[in-house]
Amino acid sequence: MLVPSLPVAPSAAIQLLDLPAQHAPLQTELTAAAAACLHEAAYIQGPAVAQFAQELSQYLGGPRVVTCANGTDALQLALMSLDLPAGTEVIVPAFTYVATLEAAAVLGLRPVPVDVLADTFNLDPAAVAAALTPRTGAIVAVHLFGQCADLAALRQLADQCAVALIEDNAQAIGATFQAGNGVSWVAGTVGEVGTTSFFPSKNLGGFGDGGALFTRDENRAAYLRQLANHGQTRKYYHQHIGLNSRLDTLQAALLRVKLPHLPAWTAARQRVAARYDTLLGSVPGLAVPARDPRSSHVFHQYTITLSEQEPGRRDALQAFLAARGVPSAVYYPLPNHLQPAYAYLGYRAGQFPVAERLGRTVLSLPIHPTLTDEQVAYVAAMVRAGLA
Ligand SMILES: *Cc1c(COP(=O)(O)O)cnc(C)c1O
Repeated sequence: MLVPSLPVAPSAAIQLLDLPAQHAPLQTELTAAAAACLHEAAYIQGPAVAQFAQELSQYLGGPRVVTCANGTDALQLALMSLDLPAGTEVIVPAFTYVATLEAAAVLGLRPVPVDVLADTFNLDPAAVAAALTPRTGAIVAVHLFGQCADLAALRQLADQCAVALIEDNAQAIGATFQAGNGVSWVAGTVGEVGTTSFFPSKNLGGFGDGGALFTRDENRAAYLRQLANHGQTRKYYHQHIGLNSRLDTLQAALLRVKLPHLPAWTAARQRVAARYDTLLGSVPGLAVPARDPRSSHVFHQYTITLSEQEPGRRDALQAFLAARGVPSAVYYPLPNHLQPAYAYLGYRAGQFPVAERLGRTVLSLPIHPTLTDEQVAYVAAMVRAGLA
């Protein structure tokens, strides 16, 4: 039998994320924006903050945009704006970044994890329906890895039960969802509140922490703006207990430089994903990311799932790849209901089998806008070799 020869490693090292390469063409503009900001000295709530909010609103089809200090604060502020009594249940995916639960927990609300769908990694609407109780105050949907959760089903469930829908859109900025009858929804603008993060590694990343909230309700936007600024209605008059959570002017100025490039970066991510799909789509024991035909996918991550023919298969592949210059990552190895911090909620192993299995079987491959075809081919070849 002919053994196909493996491609040699590409000349440039493969990175999970290559921000210097992504920023290189914008360096002059970024430096000028930063220099102007330093010079103007309006470091807090300078003009760039409102300008960035306006431009981001335009990109997302016109929701109100309230900026804040990070994506975790955005989630917390979103929940604060609902004025839920302590102990109110907040439904969250069992498989997500910890911040989704943490925001509810720090407010004295009760996170109620529910299982996710094995193919899309997103909230299982049937599990959400089963978890709704008279004590439920909100459903937090996460558009994990860049693809929308089932917004049609979740919006309907939230409306039926008169609970709020919050969208944690930290990973899916710019994604859209076909709601039927030719209606297109923009991720983050379907719930009562949507949130996002400008953590440097996100699809629209800043140069430090940052976050934002989206809402179509003008009154809620005003409330969120107050909550993010010490609950003040005007300087030194505090109507609510709030947070000090603001987007720095410097971050806003730099994000303004990056925002116009987001569509092209998203398209580049989608091209990388399509190549991976082609090169890995028929590997036995490996599933490429499932696409919900109603949602676009902005590929914050390209996450493969391995079958569990033998234990440790995923970890073995990760080590095999690392030894050949291919970085990869596990998002997320231990579901939140099994994290020590959330033991007080009283969940046990086995209660959310899909989330628990995903913790053992998912692997995210390098994906970023400057990954070359040669690098993608090499990664895919190494994955195939590692599983052969
Ligand atoms: C990154 C992320 C957050 C938190 O954002 P920070 O800006 O780091 O606080 C919340 N939820 C999800 C799904 C994320 O990926």
